Amino acid sequence: MKNINPGMISRLEDIISKASNIAIATHIHPDGDAMGSSIGLKHFLEKSGSKTVRIFLSDRWPDTLSFMMDENESKNILICDEDEERTAVCLRSCDTLFCLDFNTPSRSGSLQKHIEDFTGEKILIDHHIGPDTGCFDLCFSETEISSASEYLYHILKRLEYPSGLPAASLDAILTGITTDTNNFANSVFPSTLEACSELLAAGVDRDRILGHIYNDYRENRMRLMGHLLKDVMVTTSAGLAYIILSKEAVAEYGITDGETEGFVNLPLAIKEIRMSVFLREEDGYFRVSIRSKRGVSANRCAREHFNGGGHEQAAGGRLYWPENIRKPEDAATYIENVTKPFLNES
Ligand code: 5GP
Ligand code: MN
Repeated sequence: MKNINPGMISRLEDIISKASNIAIATHIHPDGDAMGSSIGLKHFLEKSGSKTVRIFLSDRWPDTLSFMMDENESKNILICDEDEERTAVCLRSCDTLFCLDFNTPSRSGSLQKHIEDFTGEKILIDHHIGPDTGCFDLCFSETEISSASEYLYHILKRLEYPSGLPAASLDAILTGITTDTNNFANSVFPSTLEACSELLAAGVDRDRILGHIYNDYRENRMRLMGHLLKDVMVTTSAGLAYIILSKEAVAEYGITDGETEGFVNLPLAIKEIRMSVFLREEDGYFRVSIRSKRGVSANRCAREHFNGGGHEQAAGGRLYWPENIRKPEDAATYIENVTKPFLNES
């Protein structure tokens, strides 16, 4: 992590001191880092003054992350896909907007237009490649870091607030760091472990958080994982593995939105596999997740062939039919063809 510019920190302090009605927005299909950074910042802002703070999402968080909030907090979140009119009115009434864990408004789903039209102060805190800097008044962007949650922690620590960071912020931040690093398997930097060391010293109960994230799934998810690894995963001699999860399998196993989280990582455990692609069928498109080992660019592959992007070793996007492939059955051939150059060049 580069040093955080002191001028930017004073600018942020100034914005926060003047703000009275604050909005926090994050990316479409919110994951642990999106929710962790949003919830972490919300508790901090609420503790640091008499401010109204509200989280805005394009779509609902997966059930697997519900442990991060109590019932009142979740009820207070505005979800644009569920009530766009009310979401737009509430967002317009805010004077300050924090955008967390995404680099451009187009990653915020149905919130995009409302974020672009927002006239108050807009602050970005993000760890993706290529931020849309022109869209924000203040831009904290850093890619040499585990997660937006970790970045938020380092930034908040530098703010001059005597009350410090509330325990609820610290819990949310450790959750975000844990999920975005796949439990400290990827994207771990010295700054990550320093931050986590401080979080543990401050009393965060990591065992409780790990229990919620990794040992609280339904049996069906495990059964589906077995089926996918045994019967569906394809591996190639080029070092590619891919899994295509059909709507039928989702229905058969009764799988909900967040329950396929982490599946894309599994094939990388095979020695020869250097890139793993996971497709989940939706209406008219596949949701795509890509993971790669060092030397193979998941980000460029997602950008060039799957209408997406992300990080160098973890990216995602979408594959549409009939725009990108004629029909869903053509996905396997498409994946094998477009990934070949990425595997050959490493
Ligand atoms: P996941 O595979 O866990 O859904 O996403 C992995 C990474 O890729 C995340 O950092 C996420 O922000 C990014 N990502 C996922 N889907 C998209 C997408 O549709 N567009 C872009 N630009 N990035 C994506
Ligand atoms: Mn993230």
